[in-house]
This record gives sequence, C-alpha cells and structure tokens, in this order.
Amino acid sequence: MSYEIVIGLEVHLQLNTKSKVFCGCSTDFGSEPNTQTCPVCLGFPGSLPVLNRKALELGAKVAIALNCEIAKKIRFDRKNYFYPDLPKDYQISQFSQPLAQHGRLSIEILQPFGLQDEPSGINTEKNTPMVQKKIQIRRVHLEEDTGKLFHQKDSSLIDFNRSGIPLLEIVTEPDMNSPEEAYLYLTALKSILEYIDVSDCNMEEGSLRCDANISLRKKGDTALGTKTEIKNMNSFKGVKAALEYEARRQMDSLEKGRRIIQETRLYNAEKGVTEPMRSKEEAHDYRYFPEPDLVPFDFEESLLENIGKDMPELPEPKKNRFIKDYRLSDYDAAIMTSDKDLAAYFEKCAASYENPKTIANWLMGDISAYIKEKGVSIKDLNLKPESLSGMLKMIDSGVITGKIAKTLLIEIIQTGKDPEKL
Ligand code: ADP
Ligand code: MG
Ligand code: ZN
Repeated sequence: MSYEIVIGLEVHLQLNTKSKVFCGCSTDFGSEPNTQTCPVCLGFPGSLPVLNRKALELGAKVAIALNCEIAKKIRFDRKNYFYPDLPKDYQISQFSQPLAQHGRLSIEILQPFGLQDEPSGINTEKNTPMVQKKIQIRRVHLEEDTGKLFHQKDSSLIDFNRSGIPLLEIVTEPDMNSPEEAYLYLTALKSILEYIDVSDCNMEEGSLRCDANISLRKKGDTALGTKTEIKNMNSFKGVKAALEYEARRQMDSLEKGRRIIQETRLYNAEKGVTEPMRSKEEAHDYRYFPEPDLVPFDFEESLLENIGKDMPELPEPKKNRFIKDYRLSDYDAAIMTSDKDLAAYFEKCAASYENPKTIANWLMGDISAYIKEKGVSIKDLNLKPESLSGMLKMIDSGVITGKIAKTLLIEIIQTGKDPEKL
C-alpha cells in the first residue's frame, strides 16, 4: 500500500532578551546554577509577574517576518501541570488568543528530491530547478521556559536559571510531506530568525527546540491519520533522521494491520530510534485559564509600526534582488541569501569585482569546503572580501591560473596577507 507522510512542527525559541520574560533576572547562558533567580521565577507565593516589553517586541518581529496576523489584544493563560522543573506548577503561556496566527513560510525544494543532503550548503554542480512550497504557520505565542533538570545516578539536580526565559512557540499546520521538507522548513525558519536577530537559534544549547508531529495516511485520503510527537532531537539532521525512522516504524505497523497509538516518543540519537515516552496529553488536561496576574492589554499600533520600520531585508526579497542585481540563478541566489553573513560577504565582494557569478562559485566551492572542514563561519574566516576580489582579478588578468588560485586561497586565509603580495 502507498502512504503519504504528514508532518507538523512545533518550534520553541528562546528570545535573546537581556532579562527574563516576567522578572528582571539575567538570561546569560552558562552561569553558575541558580544564580539568576528571584521570587518571581522561583514561583514564590505572592510574587507577581511583569511582562518584558522587549520579549513582546521580538515575538511580534518574528510574527511579522512569518507573515502572521498579530492579535489586537495580548492575553496570557496558565497551563497547569506538575513537574519538578516548573516551580509554580503552572506555566504562563498563551492559549485561546496567541500573539499571532495564520502566517506562512516558503521553503524551496530542489528537484529531484534527495539529491542534496544539505540545503544551506553548498555545491556548484547542482543547478537543478527549484520549486517553492508554502508552509502555513498556525500560531505563534509567547510563554516562559522551565528550569533545567540534571539526572544523576540516584538523584536529580535542578537549575532555575532557565526558568522564566522568554520562549516563542511557532506551530505549523501539518503541511510537510517528507522528513526532507521538515528539514528545509527548519533551515528556512532559522535563516529568517537569524536575519531578524531574535535568538541564538542554537539547538545544541537548547535555544531552539523542535517537537515533530508525524502521521501517515493512505494516498488519496483527506482525513489525518493518528500522529505521534517526537522530542529530544538536538540538530536539524536529528529531526530529519527521527522522522525518517518514525515514518518507517508507523508504516511497518500499519502494514501489519496495527493501529498507531497517539503518544509522545523520544528520539534516541545513539540508537537512531524513537522510543515511547508517555501517552498523549490533551489541552483539557492542562486546565488552561486566564492568567489573573497579567491584565489583558491592547497591542499598540505604534509599536507595530516601529517594529516594521526596524525590519531588515528578509531572505526572500533579498534573493529576488540578488537575481535581479547580480544576475544570479535562482539556485545561486537562494544559497547566497540562505545565511545573512554570507549574503553580506557576497555583496562586499561584488562591490569590488565585476563578475558576481564567479564570486558565488568560489563561495559555494572551495570556500564552503574550507569552512566546513575547519568548522568556522564565514564571519570568522580570515579572508577579507577585498582579498577574494583581488585574487579573482589576478585570475582574470592571467597573472595566476585557476588551479594556482586554489592553493593561493588557502595561503591567504592562513596568513591574512594580500593575494598580490603572496
Ligand atoms: P496537540 O494538541 O497534540 O499539540 P495540535 O493539533 O495542537 O496537537 O498540533 C500540534 C502540531 O501537530 C501542529 O504542528 C500540527 O500541525 C501537527 N499535527 C496535528 N495533527 C497532526 C497529524 N495527524 N499528523 C501530523 N501532524 C499533525
Ligand atoms: Mg503539542
Ligand atoms: Zn527572576
């Protein structure tokens, strides 16, 4: 039998405010445990939350970048559950009226599928045409992070420094139809979030976390199948791998005539499998009710206007501009704008060298390979844009061959000297 994969993603994003979302404690990462706490984020009785204006602004910035409709009124709700990392026994979140809804994000799919393993990176050979697909954003809402548990052999420790750090939850409609599309969505989302500078987006440090919901249905069916939710992935590749495993597991089950159990499963990266964690909770289990300590208020129009004015050029318009201004192909422009630092670097080179396509080729070829091998970023690379331009000019004027340039490039990076001198 032939099945269709259906995936919806929930991303939790730590917003990079200086202080927490409902108190003045610092959000610095890596401090001594429990040094950034106060009665509010420790949930002491009688303490009162005050909303961090910056957190709201950053949340709205994301909502605008994702083409969402922003709520006219801001309200918070209590999500009640017991867990040792949640000192109040409830999380302040948004339920009935999220900060924003009905957004979308375009992902670009290379044809044919599966040709590339790394959409943001880089390979000059692949000049395959691309198709766009819109992923709908169901909701974006603001909430607070929990503390962090450390499990030891016969005890557990808790650090409340993370408790009360602002989180933005970004939930998609079940619009993705392969693990690859989920991967592309995450890559595109991260690129936008980095452009607008709202979060570190570091999955390993936990500033970006992703829960992946997946179900199968028979080809042609319109009703959704029973889903499972997978947690505990610490990279985008991990999300893709977990979804691939889970799709296969569900398919095997269905083929054997079994039913899928709606549950939360944990990804075990070492074994490459998902394992049952708990049966699925429902919204009513949380006894959501309006947060009485935070008064609902109108979202000021002027605040929105200011955020709009502040918005940098986003990946998609930048890509279209690169196609137009630099005569790049769709594919090259997509890659040059996939990362905001790369885009800035490209533009600096293009200002002092006349053939943008050649710059893109070097960035996607030898420079990308070097960056990957050394694990550095383009920003930290010891290669001034003018040095790259200078080297390319030397090839054009016949001073060096392209082959020599490959060696010279590494020397420039390693010594920081001008190409002409070397
Ligand atoms: P829950 O109440 O379990 O959190 P929601 O309906 O709120 O479920 O959806 C959470 C996420 O799961 C969303 O991203 C949504 O798109 C996705 N989702 C919902 N139902 C399915 C399904 N049957 N298959 C795949 N994804 C789904
Ligand atoms: Mg959920
Ligand atoms: Zn605090």
